[in-house]
Amino acid sequence: MKWSQATEVGRVRQQNEDSVLAAADIGLFAVADGMGGHRAGEVASNMAMHDLEQYIRKSGGGDMGRTLIEAVKNANSNVFSSSGGEPSLKGMGTTLTAVVLKDGKATVSHVGDSRAYLIRGSKISQLTRDHSLVQELFNVGGITRAEVREHPQRNVLTRALGTELAVDVDLVTQELKPGDILLLCTDGLTGLLEDHEILAVYRQSDNLDDAVHKLVRTAMDRGGNDNISVVLIAP
Ligand code: MG
Repeated sequence: MKWSQATEVGRVRQQNEDSVLAAADIGLFAVADGMGGHRAGEVASNMAMHDLEQYIRKSGGGDMGRTLIEAVKNANSNVFSSSGGEPSLKGMGTTLTAVVLKDGKATVSHVGDSRAYLIRGSKISQLTRDHSLVQELFNVGGITRAEVREHPQRNVLTRALGTELAVDVDLVTQELKPGDILLLCTDGLTGLLEDHEILAVYRQSDNLDDAVHKLVRTAMDRGGNDNISVVLIAP
């Protein structure tokens, strides 16, 4: 398995509230985009990643989808209870998009508006669906795809990890073929690059490191208005 990752504060934000996880020995990769005042977002995304990894490491095999959902729900409980303990952490939360690559398939869990994509040959497809207000408006035909990107409330999430006692977790299972590439990223990338542009940058790259670098570079060149995190995996 090969992979490459990057997380970058961008040109506007003072802090990087994104977190990236690459635990290749257990096939686990994730991105998280924290939110909350002061350093709370950073705490939330870091905590979610740490809890997720520990839970998966301790789990004794079995059904990976079930394990992954349990792991995310466990992380939700821990972030939620921590947010009640200290005033500066009140209301903190995070997105969490994670994938476990095992036995020729990708098991993806998802909460929030970070994303997982599958790149297969000359096609890119989004495996997750954003839990955001603009996605819901788009679903019911209220706004167009172009308007999603420019909408003043595009950062409003309808689901996040750690903001409530319980969380619903989306699960997607994808059978993998030779040559498939998995991409995980936060909205600092997808807010500035269309899917076809992400694919074009990837296809113009020499290798995974080069592709990750060029994706981050492109988002930076377009303003870097948010933290940018990218993970590319060749299972
Ligand atoms: Mg973000």
